[in-house]
Amino acid sequence: MFDFEKVRMALLVIVLSILTEVGQAADNLGVLGSHPRWDVLEQYQETISHDDFARLIQNVYCTHGFASDLIVISDDSARILKNRESQSFFTLRFAKNEPGHIPRLWHPAKSLPPLKKDKPLEGLRIALDPGHLGGKWAKMEERWFQVGDTKPVTEGDLTLRVSRMLALRLRELGAKVLFVRNSTQPITPRRPGDFKELAKKILIKNGVPSPRAEVLDPNDPMKEQTVHWQSEMLFYRYSEIRRRAVLVNTKLHPDLVLCLHFNAEGWGDPENPTLIDNNHLHLLVNGSYLQDELELDDERFEMIRRLLSRAYDEELPLADAVGQAMAKETKLPAFQYPTTLTTTKVGSTGYVCARNLLATRIYRCPVVYCEPYVMNSQDGFARIQAGDYEGMRNVNGTERKSIFREYADSVTEGLVDYYRAARK
Ligand SMILES: [Zn+2]
Repeated sequence: MFDFEKVRMALLVIVLSILTEVGQAADNLGVLGSHPRWDVLEQYQETISHDDFARLIQNVYCTHGFASDLIVISDDSARILKNRESQSFFTLRFAKNEPGHIPRLWHPAKSLPPLKKDKPLEGLRIALDPGHLGGKWAKMEERWFQVGDTKPVTEGDLTLRVSRMLALRLRELGAKVLFVRNSTQPITPRRPGDFKELAKKILIKNGVPSPRAEVLDPNDPMKEQTVHWQSEMLFYRYSEIRRRAVLVNTKLHPDLVLCLHFNAEGWGDPENPTLIDNNHLHLLVNGSYLQDELELDDERFEMIRRLLSRAYDEELPLADAVGQAMAKETKLPAFQYPTTLTTTKVGSTGYVCARNLLATRIYRCPVVYCEPYVMNSQDGFARIQAGDYEGMRNVNGTERKSIFREYADSVTEGLVDYYRAARK
């Protein structure tokens, strides 16, 4: 991820609702969203207490408030709006005494067999999701910059490299490791050309009555209003992440997904990027839905399903443990979001924020999303250019491990800390 505010703006342009005619009522869905299957939530009846439900809504998922008809919490149940036009609702009954068994396909640490001393991750299925695509897609994804004639920095290739190193470490500790992506090829069979019509429709709905087809050049200030740019984003972000979710949810069935990214701040012209002093670390878990997001029928449904699966109870302490281990090893300070409009600080370490990202929302298991290192910081850039090496080396004035090994080692340490404590 990078340049939060800019990406945020681009998303707001297209996340505004798309109305699809289904039966009599119009579903109000997000971009490439699926129709909510509210009947699936019947299996969660009487599995959560009033207090747990209210606490998760207030402190984690709906920290920015919501329209009063969306969720109405009473003593013994919650009434959730399915669709405003048809005025249909889902009623969730709270547990009266001991909450019932929570239906889910993943295993919380506490349910795994007791710890084996040298294999603290045994019995655990971990899926690694290297962020973005890299390779020939890096420029399209805007995850590419180059300083002079040095090697271009492409986030999708860096995350894949870290994931492969991490897989070796986690397997040694007993985990079953699965890759959501293990090449620079997309998981989605779609390509930008498949989304031209949809891109045009979205732009028109968002107040660009006759969108331009092509981008003039990479620095074109109006590029986000072109069919070309929007259809590329529909491909590499929405379609790709939704296909990854299908893989995670129907084939991989992990107990945990680690989304691995490198951070960045606005670098301007990718061929003449700005390097900055700031370097930092943070991790994300799902939550902190915006009011506009909660208006979408599919996002509201996905939030409630996630809440009821109690993924947060697992992913928050995990993210805290990984954050702490990464901070210790990388010595990076915690990232402070410039505004609290999109995120909410959670957990006890200061490194973890809740945010409603597509991957953290729709992978149906605990998800820890790592955002260490600013790629266009002086230090991050020097370390990426230094590449991988054994042992310690002086880079940018300090003796340190290769950035890739430091990333993989510290995530591993955090996982071991968490599972050792939780599986006692
Ligand atoms: Zn990223």
